[in-house]
Amino acid sequence: NRRYRKTIIAGNWKMNKTLSETRAFAEELKPLLGRPKWCEVVLCVPYVNIPAATRLFKDCRIAIGAENCHYESSGAYTGEVSAEMLKELGVKYVVIGHSERRQYYNETDFTVNKKVHAALEAGLRPIVCVGESLEQRELGVTLELINYQVKCALAGVPAEKMRHVVFAYEPIWAIGTGKTATAQEAGEVCETIRTIIRKLYGARVARAVTIQYGGSMNPKNAFELLAQPDVDGGLIGGAALKPDQFVEIINAAN
Ligand code: PGA
Repeated sequence: NRRYRKTIIAGNWKMNKTLSETRAFAEELKPLLGRPKWCEVVLCVPYVNIPAATRLFKDCRIAIGAENCHYESSGAYTGEVSAEMLKELGVKYVVIGHSERRQYYNETDFTVNKKVHAALEAGLRPIVCVGESLEQRELGVTLELINYQVKCALAGVPAEKMRHVVFAYEPIWAIGTGKTATAQEAGEVCETIRTIIRKLYGARVARAVTIQYGGSMNPKNAFELLAQPDVDGGLIGGAALKPDQFVEIINAAN
């Protein structure tokens, strides 16, 4: 599978770390970090830390991502940040539609779609988050929901842009809870995501798309999750705040 697509290990810091804490993290991380061989390593950080982070992580070849962006390129949207603004800072990735944003900031599959277009338009790689709640899993509608979320996110996205799109399967019940999906559960949904993309764009496009798992990924479970044929990386919250744990996960991917 590595012949067709990149493994991407991405930290999602959420609303954590001040500028000085960002500097301290970089200092601690550098001596621990080997040369990433197979995988691309990304850190998605709060907007205000982006300029510092692009400088701090440049020499260890860690790409910087944002955790959100607006879907318009400019305008009267007080407090918002556009994909173009991020691009100019050297940002390479942007998380779109994280479940926390869907839950607390009224993001819908419709705005997710608009943001995917905005990110691609600006030359950023969107990391599109999809995933079911515990209730939805228990009702047995997980795969239908994923199908709906993926199709909405990709509406109007042409095949030639698909090599820039990353998906993250994040079951909401596994985020920040210490409960991980079993490797099998994660593998099943990631495989489903690839099947949906195959139906939309064909096999060649589908096999080149990186699909991550996210939700309490840690040094203990990373290897098994990443061993699933359709799990091509991780989107990591809690464990990405600690340099030693983040490096262990990177090593599991190498
Ligand atoms: P977690 O967060 O690793 O702390 O569960 C993952 C995420 O929300 O992306």
